[in-house]
Amino acid sequence: MALKEKYDVVIIGAGPGGLAASIAAKQNGAEDVLIIERDKELGGILNQCIHNGFGLEVFQQDLPGPAYAQRFINEALSIGVDTLLDAMVLDISPQRRIFATGRDVGVVDIQARAIVLAMGCREKTRAQIRIPGSRPSGVFTAGTAQRWVNVEGYMPGKKFVILGSGDIGMIMARRLTLEGAKVEGVLEVMPFLTGLTRNYVQCLMDYDIPLHLSHTVKQIIGSNRVEAVESVQVDEKWNPVKGTELVIPCDTMLLSVGLIPENELSRKAGVQMDPITGGPFVDDHFETNVPGIFAAGNVVHVYDLVDWVSEAGKEAGKSAAKFAGKLRRLENRLVPLRAGENVRYVVPHQMDRETLTESIVRLQLRVKTPIEKPVWVEVRNRGNLITRKGELYARPGEIITLEIPIRAYDEVQLAEELTVAVVQR
Ligand SMILES: Cc1cc2nc3c(=O)[nH]c(=O)nc-3n(C[C@H](O)[C@H](O)[C@H](O)COP(=O)(O)OP(=O)(O)OC[C@H]3O[C@@H](n4cnc5c(N)ncnc54)[C@H](O)[C@@H]3O)c2cc1C
Repeated sequence: MALKEKYDVVIIGAGPGGLAASIAAKQNGAEDVLIIERDKELGGILNQCIHNGFGLEVFQQDLPGPAYAQRFINEALSIGVDTLLDAMVLDISPQRRIFATGRDVGVVDIQARAIVLAMGCREKTRAQIRIPGSRPSGVFTAGTAQRWVNVEGYMPGKKFVILGSGDIGMIMARRLTLEGAKVEGVLEVMPFLTGLTRNYVQCLMDYDIPLHLSHTVKQIIGSNRVEAVESVQVDEKWNPVKGTELVIPCDTMLLSVGLIPENELSRKAGVQMDPITGGPFVDDHFETNVPGIFAAGNVVHVYDLVDWVSEAGKEAGKSAAKFAGKLRRLENRLVPLRAGENVRYVVPHQMDRETLTESIVRLQLRVKTPIEKPVWVEVRNRGNLITRKGELYARPGEIITLEIPIRAYDEVQLAEELTVAVVQR
């Protein structure tokens, strides 16, 4: 493939968000669409997620990560999406010029009519959570261990302690057990699970791996290699509770303590960030504050299900194609969506009032604290209820999806701001 100097839509990142965006851009009239990916293969992080559980929403099938990704790869390639692999985007300008470098292409400078940011997220490391103790080898992020075991074919250790009840950590607890390792337990500093309940049941309970809530690591013990970790219970202010210390012998500690959206490039392009999500402020077409720059997937906020990443990618790709075709949004049509009672954040941050003339607007949100009782998830314009739905519970680890229906069009026209709240029924 000969690389062009100009493209209608350029997508940065070939994970599920970027792949879905590329297909939708093509299907919505963009002629020249390019994906730039720093890895040697398309598929993003799904290539190392060999367990099942992907595609239940999009395909109504239970697929492993690589099989899910392959369906999108096949479609993208069959409709003529161009790809530039093994090439890292280094810089983008607000005028949508892209600078990338790769072994086969040297340095390239591409002008895009529209860009979709789909760089995913990275894991927090030991440096971000400041664990005391010595610095022996044998401390890895759960995603690094996942890549070693599932892609490279190496076992990082024999006896594990996992810090954090995020999904990747729980999935790795099961994976390592299946590979013959012993996982002594998962320590979680919060008084509640931070990943999906389904992963707790299928990955920890089914394998008799204990989860210790309100527990953390007091220190890592070992000089060359991890020899043990000392765990401790914490109170509601995260202070260690004296007398609860326990030394757990192990040779490896995995961290599953959160993900950070990869937005260094977005900042360079002048994209405004939400400090709560760590991703750009977006509207319901996933457009950022910089005209023609869209964002989709984990780069916007950390999703729990990949299916929703694909849906977001689809919308971003479609909107990017429309922008490239000079169909512009009008600023005065946007209405802000505010996180209200017990809502940590809601995405999108604003919606186009006119979207409701043709489709629903899908909102996704996370709560601040768990409510283990039936709740209403509701959208209001001042005091007036616009729409709501009932849920049996609300948990910080599980994204809640709520749709604003087309019939709310008239009420939304009148709103200056919409507030989203999760309240006990
Ligand atoms: C380590 C890890 C393990 C995970 N495991 C699971 C799991 O087991 N199950 C699950 O449901 N979810 C898992 N997730 C969540 C998963 O990331 C999402 O469900 C989904 O893959 C997000 O899709 P995405 O397209 O937004 O990002 P990704 O799949 O992460 O794709 C982003 C792509 O952008 C590329 N990229 C980034 N910066 C640049 C640049 N400057 N230039 C060029 N390319 C760039 C990356 O190489 C990557 O291929 C995991 C996440 C991580 C970080």
